[in-house]
Amino acid sequence: MKGKNWREYEPQRIKKKRRRRRKGGLPIKLILLIFLFAVGYAGFEIYFHFSKPYIIGLDAGHGGVDTGAVGIIEEVALTEKTTAKLAELLEADGRFRVVLSRKDGEDKTVTDRNKLFQRAKPDLVLSIHANSGEDASAYGFECYPSPPGKKNYERSLAFAQYIAMEMKVAGARLRGPDGVRFGYYVPDETGNTSKLLIDSTDTQVYDYDTFGMLKNMTCPAVLVEQCFVTNEQDVKDFGTEEGCAKAAQAYYQGICQYLSTLEKGKS
Ligand SMILES: [Zn+2]
Repeated sequence: MKGKNWREYEPQRIKKKRRRRRKGGLPIKLILLIFLFAVGYAGFEIYFHFSKPYIIGLDAGHGGVDTGAVGIIEEVALTEKTTAKLAELLEADGRFRVVLSRKDGEDKTVTDRNKLFQRAKPDLVLSIHANSGEDASAYGFECYPSPPGKKNYERSLAFAQYIAMEMKVAGARLRGPDGVRFGYYVPDETGNTSKLLIDSTDTQVYDYDTFGMLKNMTCPAVLVEQCFVTNEQDVKDFGTEEGCAKAAQAYYQGICQYLSTLEKGKS
């Protein structure tokens, strides 16, 4: 009877043990998987937030069928060359993640490019353009920060001042007192608009619309007019391959200068 009992009970005991082992194995694997996923995810987050703490939104003005101003060169050629070079400098630095508003040659509206930056939430936005004049003797560099009354106006102004200062060091002839102006579109009775440019010392708040790429930004934003595509000397200085590289270097230094003041403020 004793032996019979042993044979009856033992297989069940073994089965139970095996079942228990299976039950215990699955959660451990699951916990291990979750743990590995969490470690991987944390590593990914740390990499992006600490190794590349700044997101820079770069906008090459115009694109596609929209060539922008046409003079000795086309404006779009200048904006794409300069943006590509600046992106290269920022990527090589290691602290920056570059977000481009459009690809080379792409035809994208200002509204769509602006919305892309709103989604990407950059720390700084730089929109690159070039000027043109009916009079070929018009020359120089100027840039437009988000104007008074807009969110980030003061920080945009500080960023613009660094950019203008670096362009001056690179040899640019600054327009107005310091190469920094506020830009507005003023409507007339016929429904057309004309540009109104005001020196940066004027802090009056105007109700007029400013440039599309400066609107709705949650960070400092500046639009640059690198040079006049209609002026020979300007094109020689900042419109050629080397000229665009020189301007990109000045913008890169301006970005670094501006951000270093923020870091000093933190410590
Ligand atoms: Zn333009």
